[in-house]
Amino acid sequence: MSKVQQVTVLGATGSIGLSTLDVIARHPELFKVFALSGFTRLDELLKLCVRHQPRYAVVPTFEAAGRLQAALIGAGLGTRVLLGEDGLCEVAAHPEVDAVMAAIVGAAGLRPTLAAVEAGKKVLLANKEALVMSGALFMEAVRRSGALLLPIDSEHNAIFQCLPGDFSRGLGAVGVRRILLTASGGPFRQTPLEQLQAVTPEQACAHPVWSMGRKISVDSATMMNKGLELIEACWLFDARPDQVEVVIHPQSVVHSLVDYVDGSVLAQLGNPDMRTPIANALAWPARIDSGVEPLDLFRIGQLNFEAPDEQRFPCLRLARQAAEAGGSAPALLNAVNEVAVAAFLDRRIGYLDIASMIESVLNQEPVVPVNELETVFAMDARARTLAAHWLERNGR
Ligand code: NAD
Ligand code: MG
Repeated sequence: MSKVQQVTVLGATGSIGLSTLDVIARHPELFKVFALSGFTRLDELLKLCVRHQPRYAVVPTFEAAGRLQAALIGAGLGTRVLLGEDGLCEVAAHPEVDAVMAAIVGAAGLRPTLAAVEAGKKVLLANKEALVMSGALFMEAVRRSGALLLPIDSEHNAIFQCLPGDFSRGLGAVGVRRILLTASGGPFRQTPLEQLQAVTPEQACAHPVWSMGRKISVDSATMMNKGLELIEACWLFDARPDQVEVVIHPQSVVHSLVDYVDGSVLAQLGNPDMRTPIANALAWPARIDSGVEPLDLFRIGQLNFEAPDEQRFPCLRLARQAAEAGGSAPALLNAVNEVAVAAFLDRRIGYLDIASMIESVLNQEPVVPVNELETVFAMDARARTLAAHWLERNGR
């Protein structure tokens, strides 16, 4: 790498955003923060601006922008504050930006992530929901613009590392039989089924291995996260849903595997710390220090693998059905899941109601083809309306 790369971090105040800034700060000779965005934790965003001195900071409201701009001037910084989705798209597509970390959670990240893609940036994709919602259109935009799309999800980053460089020729052409997508199984892997309805948001967010934002933590508990990742893998690696097998691996040391026709199975291993895939993607194809401890296999001792139980994890079945249905189904699945998870976190529904709500909404809405982005947003809005109706009837 010859010059310092200018990096925009969308969702800088979140778990992935902070890990990204940790890696960037270890390599000032390679990376410089160009822009940061935050949504609610504005004090944290101010601290990050003081530390990384970005050219721009992006916040959601006029009121927040005024407060942050005043505080930045007070701190003697020249950082300019931009507003809302337009501001996010501007810093994602800015001509001086080399790389964009897409780490906003949920559908809110779609437009800014696509703005980075359409501007032909190096796009580090953590915001899996964006790809799940708009799959074919997103990948078409990548091809059209020549953007470099690098997966941050630990599983997809692992698969990316285990595939040959020319995998875009097709999985069959490079000798891949199937992809083995590992899952920790979350905090409720062994909870008696009759106790599941009463589990609390706090229990759902207390992941046994990974420390993450609240939405993805609940998704990990229901295994909807793995369902979204199955769809993500199909788009990233041009795989059919039946070529992706989910494997529960509670230690989360093997981050995923690729099974080749000659019987070779390649895996990527490492401590469960997102700074590894982040550093891998930031520096790709070079390797840089991420701050992650070396893996101690003697301390880990054992690696276990088991098949997922679809009775325990109905969200995984629903996501696989959406993957197979294609068209508008994944956008619907994603949107109703976002509403369901928010309602669970607000204690308006119980844990098992998450899957019930999703199944009910998916059954109400026919699958339609998706040829333009407006259909994706219409489906997202439609699913949220149906989910709100379900909530009125069944929520607390
Ligand atoms: P988080 O909740 O910790 O952070 C989310 C970030 O998005 C915050 O900066 C927040 O300010 C911003 N944000 C939230 N709502 C927004 C909105 N409406 N508009 C603009 N910005 C908004 O989440 P996270 O755990 O960092 O996850 C971020 C993304 O990365 C998710 O898509 C998640 O699935 C994915 N991911 C996370 C991990 C992980 O270990 N945390 C691993 C793999 C993938
Ligand atoms: Mg993951």
